[in-house]
Amino acid sequence: MSSTEKNNLPQSPTYWADLHLHTHASDGLYTPKQLVELAVEKGLCAIGITDHDAVRSIKPAIEEAESYNLEIIPGVELSTVDRQLDVHILGYFIDIKNKRMLHYIQLFQEERVRRAKKIVAKLYDLGMKLNLDLIMQNAGPGSIGRPHIADALMEEGYVLSYDEAFYKFLGNNKPAYVPKYKISPSEGIELIQNAGGLSFLAHPGLDITTETIAGYIKLGLDGIEIRHPKHSQHKVNELYQFAIRHELLVSGGSDCHGNRKGQEMMGLFNVPYQFVDDMKQKLEIIKGMSSVTITNTNEKM
Ligand code: AMP
Ligand code: FE
Ligand code: FE
Ligand code: ZN
Repeated sequence: MSSTEKNNLPQSPTYWADLHLHTHASDGLYTPKQLVELAVEKGLCAIGITDHDAVRSIKPAIEEAESYNLEIIPGVELSTVDRQLDVHILGYFIDIKNKRMLHYIQLFQEERVRRAKKIVAKLYDLGMKLNLDLIMQNAGPGSIGRPHIADALMEEGYVLSYDEAFYKFLGNNKPAYVPKYKISPSEGIELIQNAGGLSFLAHPGLDITTETIAGYIKLGLDGIEIRHPKHSQHKVNELYQFAIRHELLVSGGSDCHGNRKGQEMMGLFNVPYQFVDDMKQKLEIIKGMSSVTITNTNEKM
């Protein structure tokens, strides 16, 4: 392969994946069954389920996908904060039974409920009366977040659109904003590593500098998300070149949360299945390295 070919994204692969999807385990609208059915309809051969701080949709999705030719990549999107900036870290191929990950997820869920109460109280002080029980009920089993409160503001007629809810009240530093429970990117990367997965920086093209990414690489980051609805084609190419220079893996996807905004995102930001194969290859190398370590340890004993 010539160096020019290597530096270009694969042009017309046969197999496609969407590696950034949400379900009702966090702030997505679909059940695992609906998500799987939609992925099949879109002709995808693999999907990464990456709920915010939640993994409970993975098992039912795997079960649902058994009757189709669809691979489910167990994932998560961890909410971390670096110097007041929200930094989302995607984990792929994580062990969803990992104790530390599950402990962290439970803590996060509890903190999210406390935060939702605070946001609803702030909105009340601003003259908007929302029913927290109903919001919790609509949020379903997973991570309650600002999108669920935005839905309620819309349903009660306090705002005309989902975006208006964020722009006027819920967005960062807006009157009803309440920060989330924080962990650092370093802790997020470590949690994913500990759960046997690969860590990727989500949508880095939004507001993260290349210097910051370089810092995360030193912490053990495995890859970056290059394709995302909020990345221009120019940004995708720029990030891809950056990944090649730093020997990083790449991922991408639609970040589909359902059709809240009237548009179905799944299927519009696919990536070649090759990205998944590259991840698997790295996992094999890591596994090989850890068995070598075990052998060495045994030799010493
Ligand atoms: P939370 O985890 O509760 O802080 O909510 C974060 C989620 O809210 C993101 O993943 C998006 O789905 C959504 N979100 C955040 N900011 C905005 C915004 N300005 N406009 C629309 N949606 C947003
Ligand atoms: Fe979200
Ligand atoms: Fe995100
Ligand atoms: Zn996301």
